[in-house]
Amino acid sequence: MQLIRSVKEMRSDLDKQRGAKQRIGLVPTMGALHQGHESLIHLIRPEVDYLVLWLFVNPTQFNSPDDLAKYPRQLDRDLEVAREAGVDVVFAPSVEEIYPDGLERYYAGHSVRVHAGDCSFGFEGAHRPGHFDGVAHVVTCFFNIIRPDVAVFGEKDFQQVKVVQQLNRDLHLGVELLIAPLKREASGLALSSRNALLGDDAQLALSLSRALFRAKTRIEEGDDVAEVLAEADASLRRESIEPEYIELVDSMTMSPLTHFEGAAQIVAAANVGTVRLIDTMQVRKQ
Ligand code: AMP
Repeated sequence: MQLIRSVKEMRSDLDKQRGAKQRIGLVPTMGALHQGHESLIHLIRPEVDYLVLWLFVNPTQFNSPDDLAKYPRQLDRDLEVAREAGVDVVFAPSVEEIYPDGLERYYAGHSVRVHAGDCSFGFEGAHRPGHFDGVAHVVTCFFNIIRPDVAVFGEKDFQQVKVVQQLNRDLHLGVELLIAPLKREASGLALSSRNALLGDDAQLALSLSRALFRAKTRIEEGDDVAEVLAEADASLRRESIEPEYIELVDSMTMSPLTHFEGAAQIVAAANVGTVRLIDTMQVRKQ
Protein backbone atom coordinates (compact mmCIF):
# COMPACT_ATOMS: atom_id res chain seq x y z
CA MET A 1 0.00 0.00 0.00
CA GLN A 2 1.29 3.45 -0.91
CA LEU A 3 1.06 6.69 1.06
CA ILE A 4 0.83 9.74 -1.20
CA ARG A 5 0.85 13.34 0.03
CA SER A 6 0.89 15.54 -3.05
CA VAL A 7 -1.93 16.17 -5.52
CA LYS A 8 0.51 15.97 -8.41
CA GLU A 9 1.79 12.54 -7.40
CA MET A 10 -1.74 11.30 -6.71
CA ARG A 11 -2.91 12.40 -10.17
CA SER A 12 0.03 10.77 -11.91
CA ASP A 13 -0.52 7.49 -10.04
CA LEU A 14 -4.22 7.55 -10.98
CA ASP A 15 -3.46 8.33 -14.64
CA LYS A 16 -1.50 5.07 -14.76
CA GLN A 17 -4.42 3.17 -13.22
CA ARG A 18 -6.90 4.72 -15.62
CA GLY A 19 -4.61 3.85 -18.55
CA ALA A 20 -4.76 0.25 -17.37
CA LYS A 21 -8.61 0.50 -17.34
CA GLN A 22 -8.79 0.12 -13.58
CA ARG A 23 -12.09 1.03 -11.93
CA ILE A 24 -11.25 3.53 -9.21
CA GLY A 25 -12.93 3.70 -5.80
CA LEU A 26 -12.74 6.40 -3.13
CA VAL A 27 -13.35 6.30 0.63
CA PRO A 28 -13.26 9.85 2.01
CA THR A 29 -12.39 10.05 5.74
CA MET A 30 -10.87 12.36 8.31
CA GLY A 31 -8.81 9.50 9.78
CA ALA A 32 -8.81 8.10 13.32
CA LEU A 33 -10.16 5.01 11.58
CA HIS A 34 -12.54 2.63 13.34
CA GLN A 35 -14.76 -0.28 12.34
CA GLY A 36 -17.31 2.10 10.81
CA HIS A 37 -14.67 3.26 8.31
CA GLU A 38 -13.57 -0.35 7.78
CA SER A 39 -17.15 -1.28 6.86
CA LEU A 40 -17.05 1.41 4.13
CA ILE A 41 -13.84 -0.10 2.76
CA HIS A 42 -15.34 -3.61 2.80
CA LEU A 43 -18.46 -2.40 0.98
CA ILE A 44 -16.62 -0.68 -1.88
CA ARG A 45 -13.64 -3.03 -2.23
CA PRO A 46 -15.40 -5.69 -4.39
CA GLU A 47 -16.81 -2.96 -6.67
CA VAL A 48 -13.45 -1.48 -7.77
CA ASP A 49 -9.97 -2.48 -8.94
CA TYR A 50 -8.02 0.32 -7.28
CA LEU A 51 -9.04 1.79 -3.95
CA VAL A 52 -8.02 5.21 -2.62
CA LEU A 53 -8.56 6.11 1.04
CA TRP A 54 -8.66 9.88 1.50
CA LEU A 55 -7.38 10.90 4.90
CA PHE A 56 -7.70 14.62 5.52
CA VAL A 57 -8.99 16.59 8.51
CA ASN A 58 -10.71 19.30 6.50
CA PRO A 59 -10.47 22.59 8.44
CA THR A 60 -13.29 24.34 6.54
CA GLN A 61 -15.94 21.93 7.77
CA PHE A 62 -15.15 22.72 11.43
CA ASN A 63 -17.05 25.69 12.79
CA SER A 64 -15.04 25.73 16.02
CA PRO A 65 -11.22 26.07 16.13
CA ASP A 66 -11.20 24.16 19.41
CA ASP A 67 -13.07 21.21 17.85
CA LEU A 68 -10.56 21.17 14.98
CA ALA A 69 -7.57 21.32 17.34
CA LYS A 70 -8.72 18.38 19.44
CA TYR A 71 -9.89 16.16 16.55
CA PRO A 72 -8.01 12.83 16.98
CA ARG A 73 -5.10 12.20 14.58
CA GLN A 74 -3.21 8.89 14.37
CA LEU A 75 -1.65 8.44 10.94
CA ASP A 76 0.54 5.39 11.72
CA ARG A 77 -2.35 3.39 13.14
CA ASP A 78 -4.62 4.49 10.28
CA LEU A 79 -2.09 3.21 7.74
CA GLU A 80 -2.13 -0.19 9.46
CA VAL A 81 -5.94 -0.34 9.45
CA ALA A 82 -6.09 0.73 5.80
CA ARG A 83 -3.49 -1.84 4.74
CA GLU A 84 -5.29 -4.65 6.59
CA ALA A 85 -8.63 -3.66 5.08
CA GLY A 86 -7.30 -3.83 1.51
CA VAL A 87 -6.74 -0.18 0.53
CA ASP A 88 -4.30 0.37 -2.37
CA VAL A 89 -3.28 3.94 -1.66
CA VAL A 90 -3.79 6.36 1.22
CA PHE A 91 -3.92 9.97 0.10
CA ALA A 92 -3.11 12.25 3.06
CA PRO A 93 -2.51 15.75 1.71
CA SER A 94 -1.57 18.83 3.73
CA VAL A 95 -3.99 21.74 4.12
CA GLU A 96 -1.80 23.75 1.70
CA GLU A 97 -2.20 21.08 -1.00
CA ILE A 98 -6.00 21.25 -0.85
CA TYR A 99 -6.33 25.01 -0.28
CA PRO A 100 -3.52 26.39 -2.48
CA ASP A 101 -4.78 29.97 -2.05
CA GLY A 102 -4.76 29.62 1.74
CA LEU A 103 -7.58 29.31 4.25
CA GLU A 104 -7.84 33.06 4.81
CA ARG A 105 -8.84 33.61 1.20
CA TYR A 106 -11.32 30.71 1.47
CA TYR A 107 -12.96 32.17 4.57
CA ALA A 108 -12.98 35.68 3.07
CA GLY A 109 -14.83 34.27 0.05
CA HIS A 110 -12.03 35.35 -2.30
CA SER A 111 -11.11 31.91 -3.64
CA VAL A 112 -13.67 29.83 -5.56
CA ARG A 113 -15.96 28.04 -3.11
CA VAL A 114 -18.68 25.43 -3.39
CA HIS A 115 -21.93 26.02 -1.48
CA ALA A 116 -24.08 23.10 -0.36
CA GLY A 117 -27.70 22.97 -1.52
CA ASP A 118 -30.89 23.20 0.50
CA CYS A 119 -30.49 19.70 2.02
CA SER A 120 -27.86 21.37 4.17
CA PHE A 121 -30.02 24.09 5.72
CA GLY A 122 -31.44 22.45 8.88
CA PHE A 123 -30.04 20.24 11.64
CA GLU A 124 -26.22 19.96 11.30
CA GLY A 125 -26.22 22.90 8.89
CA ALA A 126 -28.15 25.11 11.30
CA HIS A 127 -26.08 24.13 14.34
CA ARG A 128 -22.71 24.20 12.58
CA PRO A 129 -22.68 27.25 10.29
CA GLY A 130 -20.41 26.73 7.27
CA HIS A 131 -20.01 23.01 7.99
CA PHE A 132 -21.74 21.68 4.88
CA ASP A 133 -20.20 24.33 2.61
CA GLY A 134 -16.83 23.00 3.79
CA VAL A 135 -17.98 19.42 3.18
CA ALA A 136 -19.36 20.22 -0.30
CA HIS A 137 -16.16 22.10 -1.18
CA VAL A 138 -13.79 19.34 -0.10
CA VAL A 139 -15.90 16.56 -1.65
CA THR A 140 -15.76 18.46 -4.95
CA CYS A 141 -11.97 18.60 -4.54
CA PHE A 142 -11.89 14.82 -3.82
CA PHE A 143 -13.92 14.09 -6.92
CA ASN A 144 -11.83 16.42 -9.12
CA ILE A 145 -8.48 15.10 -7.92
CA ILE A 146 -9.31 11.40 -7.73
CA ARG A 147 -12.05 11.29 -10.42
CA PRO A 148 -13.38 8.08 -8.85
CA ASP A 149 -15.87 5.82 -10.58
CA VAL A 150 -17.39 4.98 -7.20
CA ALA A 151 -17.26 6.63 -3.76
CA VAL A 152 -18.70 5.45 -0.47
CA PHE A 153 -20.24 7.49 2.36
CA GLY A 154 -21.70 6.39 5.69
CA GLU A 155 -25.34 6.69 6.65
CA LYS A 156 -24.07 7.67 10.11
CA ASP A 157 -23.79 11.21 8.66
CA PHE A 158 -27.29 11.00 7.24
CA GLN A 159 -27.61 14.65 6.24
CA GLN A 160 -24.11 14.63 4.72
CA VAL A 161 -25.25 11.83 2.40
CA LYS A 162 -28.13 14.03 1.23
CA VAL A 163 -25.77 16.97 0.71
CA VAL A 164 -23.30 14.88 -1.30
CA GLN A 165 -26.07 13.31 -3.42
CA GLN A 166 -27.41 16.79 -4.23
CA LEU A 167 -23.90 18.08 -5.01
CA ASN A 168 -23.19 15.11 -7.28
CA ARG A 169 -26.46 15.68 -9.13
CA ASP A 170 -26.38 19.48 -9.37
CA LEU A 171 -22.75 19.76 -10.50
CA HIS A 172 -22.91 16.67 -12.77
CA LEU A 173 -19.98 15.10 -10.97
CA GLY A 174 -21.03 11.68 -12.27
CA VAL A 175 -19.71 9.58 -9.37
CA GLU A 176 -21.56 6.40 -8.40
CA LEU A 177 -22.36 6.74 -4.69
CA LEU A 178 -22.56 3.80 -2.29
CA ILE A 179 -24.13 4.32 1.12
CA ALA A 180 -22.91 2.14 4.01
CA PRO A 181 -25.15 1.32 6.98
CA LEU A 182 -24.28 2.80 10.39
CA LYS A 183 -22.00 0.60 12.54
CA ARG A 184 -22.46 0.50 16.31
CA GLU A 185 -20.50 -0.80 19.25
CA ALA A 186 -22.08 -3.81 21.01
CA SER A 187 -23.34 -1.26 23.57
CA GLY A 188 -25.37 0.49 20.85
CA LEU A 189 -23.16 3.59 20.69
CA ALA A 190 -22.60 4.70 17.08
CA LEU A 191 -18.92 4.31 16.23
CA SER A 192 -17.24 7.67 15.78
CA SER A 193 -13.71 9.05 15.82
CA ARG A 194 -14.96 11.47 18.48
CA ASN A 195 -15.75 8.59 20.89
CA ALA A 196 -12.01 8.55 21.70
CA LEU A 197 -12.49 11.99 23.30
CA LEU A 198 -15.28 10.89 25.68
CA GLY A 199 -13.01 9.76 28.55
CA ASP A 200 -15.08 9.47 31.74
CA ASP A 201 -18.26 10.27 29.81
CA ALA A 202 -18.05 7.08 27.70
CA GLN A 203 -20.73 5.36 29.79
CA LEU A 204 -23.00 8.40 29.77
CA ALA A 205 -22.80 8.57 25.96
CA LEU A 206 -24.67 5.25 25.70
CA SER A 207 -27.83 7.13 26.71
CA LEU A 208 -28.01 8.79 23.30
CA SER A 209 -28.46 5.58 21.27
CA ARG A 210 -30.71 4.17 24.02
CA ALA A 211 -32.98 7.21 23.76
CA LEU A 212 -33.13 6.80 19.98
CA PHE A 213 -33.87 3.07 20.15
CA ARG A 214 -36.67 3.80 22.63
CA ALA A 215 -38.08 6.55 20.41
CA LYS A 216 -37.91 4.28 17.35
CA THR A 217 -39.83 1.50 19.13
CA ARG A 218 -42.52 3.86 20.39
CA ILE A 219 -43.00 5.56 17.02
CA GLU A 220 -43.21 2.17 15.30
CA GLU A 221 -45.86 1.17 17.86
CA GLY A 222 -47.90 4.21 16.81
CA ASP A 223 -47.23 6.65 19.67
CA ASP A 224 -47.48 10.37 18.94
CA VAL A 225 -44.24 11.47 17.22
CA ALA A 226 -43.98 14.93 18.82
CA GLU A 227 -44.61 13.47 22.28
CA VAL A 228 -42.03 10.69 21.78
CA LEU A 229 -39.36 13.12 20.59
CA ALA A 230 -40.05 15.53 23.45
CA GLU A 231 -39.70 12.65 25.91
CA ALA A 232 -36.40 11.56 24.31
CA ASP A 233 -35.11 15.12 24.63
CA ALA A 234 -36.25 15.38 28.26
CA SER A 235 -34.78 12.00 29.21
CA LEU A 236 -31.35 13.05 27.90
CA ARG A 237 -31.49 16.38 29.72
CA ARG A 238 -32.30 14.55 32.97
CA GLU A 239 -28.97 12.74 32.48
CA SER A 240 -27.11 16.02 31.84
CA ILE A 241 -26.77 15.34 28.12
CA GLU A 242 -27.58 18.39 26.07
CA PRO A 243 -29.45 17.54 22.84
CA GLU A 244 -29.14 20.05 19.99
CA TYR A 245 -31.93 18.38 18.03
CA ILE A 246 -33.85 15.10 17.93
CA GLU A 247 -36.20 15.00 14.96
CA LEU A 248 -38.04 12.62 12.69
CA VAL A 249 -37.42 13.56 9.05
CA ASP A 250 -38.43 12.52 5.57
CA SER A 251 -35.60 10.25 4.38
CA MET A 252 -35.42 11.98 0.98
CA THR A 253 -36.01 15.67 1.71
CA MET A 254 -34.96 15.95 5.38
CA SER A 255 -38.23 17.82 6.14
CA PRO A 256 -39.44 17.29 9.73
CA LEU A 257 -42.38 14.89 10.02
CA THR A 258 -45.05 14.22 12.58
CA HIS A 259 -46.97 11.69 10.46
CA PHE A 260 -45.63 9.22 7.91
CA GLU A 261 -46.17 5.89 6.24
CA GLY A 262 -43.41 3.48 5.25
CA ALA A 263 -39.97 4.67 6.33
CA ALA A 264 -38.63 7.84 7.96
CA GLN A 265 -35.40 8.71 9.77
CA ILE A 266 -34.64 9.93 13.28
CA VAL A 267 -31.68 12.34 13.30
CA ALA A 268 -30.08 13.61 16.51
CA ALA A 269 -27.10 15.54 17.83
CA ALA A 270 -26.19 15.94 21.48
CA ASN A 271 -23.35 17.20 23.63
CA VAL A 272 -22.02 14.66 26.09
CA GLY A 273 -19.70 16.68 28.30
CA THR A 274 -17.54 18.53 25.79
CA VAL A 275 -18.00 15.98 22.99
CA ARG A 276 -20.64 16.51 20.32
CA LEU A 277 -22.11 13.24 19.01
CA ILE A 278 -24.61 12.51 16.25
CA ASP A 279 -26.77 9.46 15.74
CA THR A 280 -29.50 8.36 13.35
CA MET A 281 -31.97 5.51 12.98
CA GLN A 282 -34.53 4.41 10.45
CA VAL A 283 -38.15 4.06 11.61
CA ARG A 284 -40.61 1.85 9.71
CA LYS A 285 -44.40 1.72 9.89
CA GLN A 286 -46.93 -0.36 7.88
P1 AMP B 1 -15.31 10.80 9.14
O1 AMP B 1 -13.90 10.30 9.16
O2 AMP B 1 -15.96 10.88 10.47
O3 AMP B 1 -15.48 12.04 8.30
O4 AMP B 1 -16.13 9.68 8.38
C1 AMP B 1 -15.76 9.23 7.10
C2 AMP B 1 -16.87 8.40 6.53
O5 AMP B 1 -17.11 7.29 7.40
C3 AMP B 1 -18.19 9.17 6.42
O6 AMP B 1 -18.83 8.83 5.20
C4 AMP B 1 -18.97 8.68 7.61
O7 AMP B 1 -20.36 8.74 7.44
C5 AMP B 1 -18.49 7.25 7.73
N1 AMP B 1 -18.68 6.74 9.10
C6 AMP B 1 -18.26 7.31 10.25
N2 AMP B 1 -18.69 6.60 11.32
C7 AMP B 1 -19.42 5.57 10.82
C8 AMP B 1 -20.15 4.48 11.40
N3 AMP B 1 -20.23 4.33 12.72
N4 AMP B 1 -20.76 3.61 10.59
C9 AMP B 1 -20.71 3.76 9.23
N5 AMP B 1 -20.04 4.76 8.62
C10 AMP B 1 -19.41 5.65 9.40
